[in-house]
Amino acid sequence: MNEKSVTILVTGLVQGVGFRPFVFRIASRFGLSGWVQNTNENVKIRITGSIQNINSFITSLREDAPPAAIMENISVTDTEIESFTEFRILESHDVSDEITEISPDIAVCHDCLLDIDKPGTRMDYAFVNCTNCGPRFTIIEDLPYDRAKTTMKSFKMCPECRNEYETITDRRFHAQPVACKVCGPHYELIAEGIKESNDITTLIDRLSQCIAKGGIVIIKGLGGMHIACDAFNVATIDKLRDLKKRDGKPFAIMFSDIESLKQYAEVDAVEEKSLLSWRRPIVLLEKKKRTGQPDLSENINAGLNLLGVMLPYLPIHYLLFRKLTTKAIVLTSGNFSNEPILIDNAEAIEKFSAVTDALVLHNRDIINRTDDSVVRIMDGHERIFRRSRGYVPAPVHTSLNTDGILAFGAELTNCFCAGKGVKAFLSQHIGDLQSVETTLFYEKSLAQFIKLFRIKPALLATDMHPDYISTKTGLAFSNLPVLMVQHHHAHIASCMTEHRLDEKVIGVAFDGTGYGTDGNIWGSEFMICDLNDFRRVTHFEYIPMPGGDRATEEPWRIAVSWLYKLFGRSFLNLDIPLLAEIEGEKIEMIIRMIDKNINCPLTCGAGRLFDAVASLLGLVQVATFQAEGPMRLESLNLHNFSECYPYFSREIISFDKTIKAIVEDILNKTDKATIATKLHNTIILSIFDTVISIRLKEGLNKVVLSGGVFQNKYLLARTTDMLRESHFEVYSHFLVPPNDGGIALGQLAIASKRRELKCV
Ligand SMILES: [Zn+2]
Ligand SMILES: [Zn+2]
Repeated sequence: MNEKSVTILVTGLVQGVGFRPFVFRIASRFGLSGWVQNTNENVKIRITGSIQNINSFITSLREDAPPAAIMENISVTDTEIESFTEFRILESHDVSDEITEISPDIAVCHDCLLDIDKPGTRMDYAFVNCTNCGPRFTIIEDLPYDRAKTTMKSFKMCPECRNEYETITDRRFHAQPVACKVCGPHYELIAEGIKESNDITTLIDRLSQCIAKGGIVIIKGLGGMHIACDAFNVATIDKLRDLKKRDGKPFAIMFSDIESLKQYAEVDAVEEKSLLSWRRPIVLLEKKKRTGQPDLSENINAGLNLLGVMLPYLPIHYLLFRKLTTKAIVLTSGNFSNEPILIDNAEAIEKFSAVTDALVLHNRDIINRTDDSVVRIMDGHERIFRRSRGYVPAPVHTSLNTDGILAFGAELTNCFCAGKGVKAFLSQHIGDLQSVETTLFYEKSLAQFIKLFRIKPALLATDMHPDYISTKTGLAFSNLPVLMVQHHHAHIASCMTEHRLDEKVIGVAFDGTGYGTDGNIWGSEFMICDLNDFRRVTHFEYIPMPGGDRATEEPWRIAVSWLYKLFGRSFLNLDIPLLAEIEGEKIEMIIRMIDKNINCPLTCGAGRLFDAVASLLGLVQVATFQAEGPMRLESLNLHNFSECYPYFSREIISFDKTIKAIVEDILNKTDKATIATKLHNTIILSIFDTVISIRLKEGLNKVVLSGGVFQNKYLLARTTDMLRESHFEVYSHFLVPPNDGGIALGQLAIASKRRELKCV
């Protein structure tokens, strides 16, 4: 007989995504016997059958895997022929310190949504899940991924659930969080500090009435608490702004379905794919101009032309929208500004009972806190701005030995990164390390990643900034060697690592702030670099930043700095909005600070140039959220308009002529959109010219774009187009954020390369 036995090892994201039942099904389909087993390293399969059937099995394994599975490697080896009576799923087995990947959380699937309509123990049940969907990373305490190592361990399966869990042909076979009304977690509604109801029908009724009446509610979700309210109610959203404490940041909106969403936002095919993907991120979309119809409250998105929108991803979202009359709710992180999203019930009750109308909490603990992820489609690809739920903890696969390297990240928008083998595990979005709560979350998550991924720290990497909490944490971590990495070099290395580039490239790193090797604040860096080292070729001209970080919060300070530089005191006679909006005394104080060089660090951050112009145009004098100035300018951009301002470049790039021309345009009452677009075009041209001249001298053709400024769609798309037309190979971020949330990956890559070259 033409029989044989083979052993197949599958690595990648293959646990917790319905992989073993899938293997079982295809083994049955092709009449093969043997077994499948989860180990902490991989999924191991042994099968016996005809050569033809084994080949068909392998083809199906490659082509028909469950949607959330990401197979990295499939190895097949012939083994001594072995006969089995059936195909079985064996107990999970811990074989070493190696690990398999942990699945991110997966939005509730179509089949499970059908279950909540059917009579039975899952009718209207808010925790329905199966092997294809449900919580994963947020509930996991340790590997391998088994119920006993998740926060589902405190819920004892009822006989029915147990039966499904143990029936190989069932959709819930080995679905670790399997649950039903009888045995699983449940929600309860708390109003005015009193537990009102845990009957789901009553609870959803109460919740929807509360939202309809303009109430603000807390809903506990997968990775933390959300605050929700009607997205059409101006007064409620004003109240919500007060509650979140002087935070002007745009709120995310959840729409009931894609059709309703399309009435309010422009959606192309790639954007629709992201919105509907099992990761269910917040997608930044252009707001539709509507006339004469009820519109979303203006105070949701701070008057910008972008909306952050998402679709339901938990059963409770679907249950809620069935009752609600509104098609959209604000769904924002349950926290006060600068604090991490709340995960603890008692803390939520303590902090939010008095300031919200109801809390809807459940009794399944959250181990790994995650926010909603944020993406934007640019140049036809999904770009991740905030990487958390649905994306974490999937690793970046590198071509480097990352083993044992811990990279601590930056200060704002922090994520850290842990290396294992050739993989880089970037943490979920941690936030701004400026509150005690966020720092605690940071430290706890670091410990959790080390445990979960069995990291044996051997080498540490931090930013060069001596005052970053992350730098201090790295230095205090242990006695291990610490490598301090320049901020913008790390940005470029991060993007290179995603694309597995390990050579000399032209790096363009544009952001707001980063500590430079000359002690100044960098952020418009043109560098020639590889993963080991960098050489700064040129940058924008430095300008005093009166008050240091205060100037980031108050863009008018940087505008005054520019005006004083270009016009001396005579700028005080100009007829521009800034002078009408800011008191003369304050402006005099800035002039004195500059004259006497008091707390005026020098900056060349590209973000500050945008800030200065945003202030000159009267768009933002005091920012109410990060990067408000640049975002408002981008919001104004015209399409099909290619005019530029003059600028000047020799050793450094000077925008003196640009700002002078902008002031002139303002005096001539040129419209703001024209000025904003011309500014963008000028910066794009300056990038293009500089990169061309570097290519001429150095013969390099690969350009890597990184830094938060490249979240600007207009800037990224036009720069990329122009460079490609001149036959450059252009690289930008797909897998990790271009902002400081991606920097830890770069720190890790640089540390790895220096270790390889024995420079540490
Ligand atoms: Zn499901
Ligand atoms: Zn049950």
